[in-house]
Amino acid sequence: MTDQPSGTQPPNVRIFGKAESAPAYAIRDFLHRGDVPFEWTELKNDEQAREVGVESALHGEEALSGIVLTNNKTSQQQTFNTKWLFLCLGGVPHTEWAKEDSITRDTAGYLVTGPDLAKDGRYPKNWPLERAPYYLETSMPGLFAAGDVRHDSVKRCASAVGEGAMAVTFVHRYLAHS
Ligand SMILES: Cc1cc2nc3c(=O)[nH]c(=O)nc-3n(C[C@H](O)[C@H](O)[C@H](O)COP(=O)(O)OP(=O)(O)OC[C@H]3O[C@@H](n4cnc5c(N)ncnc54)[C@H](O)[C@@H]3O)c2cc1C
Repeated sequence: MTDQPSGTQPPNVRIFGKAESAPAYAIRDFLHRGDVPFEWTELKNDEQAREVGVESALHGEEALSGIVLTNNKTSQQQTFNTKWLFLCLGGVPHTEWAKEDSITRDTAGYLVTGPDLAKDGRYPKNWPLERAPYYLETSMPGLFAAGDVRHDSVKRCASAVGEGAMAVTFVHRYLAHS
C-alpha cells in the first residue's frame, strides 16, 4: 500500500514500515502535517519486512547521494536518489543478564511475567512457589518487569509508566507476604 498526500511533487521521503510500527507512523503523521511529499510502503508482516534489505547500497563520494534497496527474496533492486537515510529497525531487549538465573524469556528475549508464565494451567519448573506469580512478576519471585522489556507489553509510554506504578504495588505485596 502506498499513501501519498495529494499534489504533483515527486516524493522525496520514503518510509517502509509495518502498520503497527509506532516510529513509522509517527514520522508519517508528522509529514502529513507539513508539505513534504512522501511515499509510505506498508510492510504487512515480519517476513515482508525482512525482504526489504539495504545491501551494500549506499552511494555517494563525500555524502550520501542514493541507496539501492534489494528485495532479499527476489533479489530485485530499486534505486532511490536521496541525501538522507534513517533506519529504525526495532529494538532488542537487554536481558542477557536474565540467562544466568534462568529467568524465563520469550524467543525474542523479552521477560515473561504473571499469567503468561503458565502453559496449560501449569507454571514452569523454575517457578518455586505454591502461589501463582503476581502480574508483572517474572519467574524469579520478587523480580518484576514493567514496560517494553516485558513479553507482550503494549510498547507505549503511558502503559510503561502505568506498569511501573503497578510493579511498586506488587513489590509491597510481595514484601508483606514474605
Ligand atoms: C522512535 C520511537 C517512537 C515512539 N513513539 C511513541 C509514541 O509516540 N507514543 C508512545 O506512547 N510510545 C512511543 N514509543 C514507545 C515508547 O518510547 C516506549 O514504549 C517507552 O519508552 C517504554 O518505556 P520503558 O521505560 O519500558 O523503556 P525505555 O524507555 O526503553 O527505558 C529503558 C531504559 O533502561 C535502560 N537500560 C537498558 N538496559 C539496562 C541495564 N542493563 N541497566 C540499566 N539500565 C538499562 C535503557 O538505557 C533505557 O534508558 C516510541 C518508541 C520509539 C523507539
